[in-house]
Amino acid sequence: MKKDWVEKLKNKGIGKVSLFERSLFEKDFLRLYKRKVDTKRVKEDEPIPIAGVCIPMKSKFFVDVHGKFYICEKLNDFKSFGSLNTGINYDKIYSFYEYYYNLTVRECGKCWAKRLCQLCFLSIVREGKVDLEKRMEECERMRNKIKEDLVDYMEILEKNPKAFDYMKGITIS
Ligand code: SF4
Repeated sequence: MKKDWVEKLKNKGIGKVSLFERSLFEKDFLRLYKRKVDTKRVKEDEPIPIAGVCIPMKSKFFVDVHGKFYICEKLNDFKSFGSLNTGINYDKIYSFYEYYYNLTVRECGKCWAKRLCQLCFLSIVREGKVDLEKRMEECERMRNKIKEDLVDYMEILEKNPKAFDYMKGITIS
């Protein structure tokens, strides 16, 4: 189905794409179209701020039926960062963030996909525990996905250079 969307954008433009198809695939290309273009030369292994992760308890917030606080609903079997009785534990959030940063900074610094990667805390958690093998699998999956999206994106633009112009007016929050 994604191939259909790609072909339509190449040959006919966004006007021929259904809203359903847009809802499924548009965000992948929007991410590329709206990517931050940094003209400064960055050394190959220079660390950059971690992308993909939200700011815990700011972007999302999940409260379970026992009143415990979690980063999000997908991580409700992982660390709780406070509760209705005790409030938000900012120290715990800070040390988890720091732990995640130290865990990922070296690998991500060397990775070609670092500016487009969307992996988040969820990528290191399996069945409620930190699992670094899962992280490696997720990295592989993410890099393959970005590679495929980049190929599609460039093929569309080669055939139809104005295909993504309509995205200028779209704001990502
Ligand atoms: S794919 Fe993995 S190593 Fe590469 S930037 Fe994303 S999280 Fe880091």
